[in-house]
Amino acid sequence: MKGVLFMDIKQTDSEYISHTYSRFPITLVRGNGCILYDETGTEYIDMGAGIAVNTFGAADKEWCFAVESQIHKLAHASNLYYTEPCVKLAEMLCQKTGLKKVFFSNSGAEANECAIKAARRYAFNKYGDEKHSVIITLKNSFHGRTVTTLSATGQDCFHHEFGPFTPGFVYADTENPDSLETLAAAGNVCAIMFEAIQGEGGVIPLSEDFVRAIKRTAEKYSLLLIADEIQCGNGRSGKLCAYMNFDIKPDIVTSAKGLAAGLPLGVTLFGEKVENVYTPGTHGSTFGGNPVCASAALSVLSRIDDKLLNEVTEKGNYIVKELNNSCGIAEITGLGLMLGIKTEKNVKDVINNCMEQGVLVLSAKSKLRLLPPLNIPYDKLEKAVSVIKKACSI
Ligand SMILES: *Cc1c(COP(=O)(O)O)cnc(C)c1O
Repeated sequence: MKGVLFMDIKQTDSEYISHTYSRFPITLVRGNGCILYDETGTEYIDMGAGIAVNTFGAADKEWCFAVESQIHKLAHASNLYYTEPCVKLAEMLCQKTGLKKVFFSNSGAEANECAIKAARRYAFNKYGDEKHSVIITLKNSFHGRTVTTLSATGQDCFHHEFGPFTPGFVYADTENPDSLETLAAAGNVCAIMFEAIQGEGGVIPLSEDFVRAIKRTAEKYSLLLIADEIQCGNGRSGKLCAYMNFDIKPDIVTSAKGLAAGLPLGVTLFGEKVENVYTPGTHGSTFGGNPVCASAALSVLSRIDDKLLNEVTEKGNYIVKELNNSCGIAEITGLGLMLGIKTEKNVKDVINNCMEQGVLVLSAKSKLRLLPPLNIPYDKLEKAVSVIKKACSI
């Protein structure tokens, strides 16, 4: 039975908040690591981390300290002035990835917008016109909700009702090198944009062969490579960036979600070819690189070291080992702590069943999706996995 407080919140939400979300019937009020509590004090094990955002779970001590110590000094300065957390974070991001420069924004969609603008400006500077501004993205990809990033998203279900869409995107069949080649050969393309692990598309990692094809096509036609690491980055795959699981070096990398682990921060990283593509006045953001978000991200990033990454891989292997071939589970895809599970039961029933048993899981298309905090302890993981196992079994 849901209490009066919950019913009241649900009613007010429905009355005043645009109906874009179908929310689960839970009000979350606080948390501690991978444990979340509703308004009645009921505990849940968090296997979704706020959609890959809460890298170290809720109310993590180090994260709170990083945020609090900055928020009491200066919460916002605008990009008209220097702030130390922003500069230090940029330096750390470049040192850890080998990329050369960054631009900070507030969300994944904005990070991708910045990448798309950068690729177009690069092409304009190179060819002197807009004839080479087309970007190849992959079918089944997801790149955001703004009109341009929806346009970049390679799923037809996103291409209705909000037109006209930004032109200049073509969609290659994922895992089909010939499709890439045909689109690139048209001669009007400047970049290929991809998620190394397609998140919203059902947690599907690209194959090594297809990543090789992306690399080969980019080299052959002098195209930029844009890696969207918004969901699969920040240590989730067992490497800092998911593309690092493959032999490929993107020219532009975008990140957000888990970067500031609970505060809004997006980043676009530029490699050598594009490091100077933007010049004063050509791009900007009021909040981007905000010192509080930057301070949070500095603390998060400094903790994503080899030890943590190895743990992420081990925990992912543990989940796969426990659930593989288990009753009602058809297939598990993904890397590290970004896993998609094809269930024989309807995924909604599985999610509701898990929720009733105190475990919060997500879906991606028709699959179950697991994105727990990277530091989830084994005892909690063990419990969550056993609940998931039971919920899937038929
Ligand atoms: C979530 C996501 C985005 C959009 O990020 P927002 O912060 O919601 O704008 C873009 N690309 C990928 C791969 C994502 O998972």
